[in-house]
Amino acid sequence: MFNIHFLGAAGQVTGSKYFIYSSTSRGFLLDCGLFQGPPELSVMNRLPLPIPIGAIGNVLITHAHLDHLGYLPYIVRNGYNGNIYATEATIEVGEYVLRDSAKLQEEDALNANKHGWAKHKPAIPLYTSEDAEKTITLFQQVQRYKKKILPDNISAEYLNAGHILGSCSIRIEKRYDDREPLSVLFSGDIGRKHPIYLKPKDAAPQADYVVCESTYGDRLHKAVDPKDELRDVVLDAIKSKSMLIIPAFAVDRSQELLFCLNALMRDGQIPIIDTYIDSPMATGVTDVYGKFSEEHTFTQQELSEPDKNPLLFKSLKFTKNPEDSKRLNDLNGPAIIISASGMATGGRVMHHLINRLPKTDTVVLLTGYQAEGTLGRALLEGEKFVHIHGQQIPVKATIKTLNSYSGHADQGEIMEWLKTMPKAPKKIFLTHGEDKARLGLKAKIESDLNWNVEMPHLGWSFDLEQ
Ligand SMILES: [Zn+2]
Repeated sequence: MFNIHFLGAAGQVTGSKYFIYSSTSRGFLLDCGLFQGPPELSVMNRLPLPIPIGAIGNVLITHAHLDHLGYLPYIVRNGYNGNIYATEATIEVGEYVLRDSAKLQEEDALNANKHGWAKHKPAIPLYTSEDAEKTITLFQQVQRYKKKILPDNISAEYLNAGHILGSCSIRIEKRYDDREPLSVLFSGDIGRKHPIYLKPKDAAPQADYVVCESTYGDRLHKAVDPKDELRDVVLDAIKSKSMLIIPAFAVDRSQELLFCLNALMRDGQIPIIDTYIDSPMATGVTDVYGKFSEEHTFTQQELSEPDKNPLLFKSLKFTKNPEDSKRLNDLNGPAIIISASGMATGGRVMHHLINRLPKTDTVVLLTGYQAEGTLGRALLEGEKFVHIHGQQIPVKATIKTLNSYSGHADQGEIMEWLKTMPKAPKKIFLTHGEDKARLGLKAKIESDLNWNVEMPHLGWSFDLEQ
């Protein structure tokens, strides 16, 4: 027996979680992500896992996004005590992500109790800072391209996925005495063909099965330079003396925006403009970049000199505490506030949106994938009123979106990556995509490659030895 059990990101974009097990011992989890988005999805974080936590022997993590590792403190809170294998950069970034997530869980529970919008009284956090700290002690570093040996003759090899700092695809192989080995390639989230500054992803190695993300499986990204797209939005905001609020993922998207703003100012394409990073996590992660020169195209020298650092510039300020953040409410435009979270599902950006959405001198710039049911998606779809923290907020601000910024490969780039496989797999499972995206990619793979494509649903399991 060599089974895969789909516990998340099967028909939705978030909650990546796959349990792989063979009959002789406990199995391992590959990714351990939070479900994010509307209440019907986030409530799934509170349902019991369909497998006993005691059956999990190890955990392997592809990258440090919350929808890939944000459920870790929950399983630790409920008794998981084994190793969590990830690259060094994923661990460093992951520490920020988990601490921030625990704090948000605690704050949400506190606010829900204070303002009475808790469905279950009293509201308790999914996990606490203490659970996050305990989780962090379980991380074990792996080297890319060096096989990690797991129980049951299984090995795991981490490859570069070019998606965020430290991100990986993971190839699992099981060896047998009496038959050929079996292998499964988990794409993780796969990056663009030409990332803004990250080293591009590795070619896809041979595998019997592929579990592939499909976030943009039915779409192509606009073929425009991200800097040009950002320049036009900033120039418009300056002209109308507007505040430009950018909800951005603290990991990578915030740094990409800083890199592009810096380049635009340096080249004189936009005037010097006051820019605030209002996210403690984005501040920390920006610092981490200096340590991992093998991950990106910046030189050590550039990163060590503030004048040359491609992620820093003179008009950039990092807010230090919640009081600093609140003071930004009184600021007049033009200026830029970059704040998490990227789909406006929590974090400091929420109070900026409550304050600024009703104002006509505000531009909200959405910069990445906006999952169904999130506030970001409601704004993208042009809702005139939105609900934040139990309040109805009118939307008078201008909503814009940057289409060229994405950490995810589009349909063409996924196809190109799959074609680098030396030969066709027995089957490819499409996950980490809404059904429309999965169906689009399925049709494309069937017509162009004639591969056997599956769209697993939540809770489905498959015997890889069959
Ligand atoms: Zn990701």
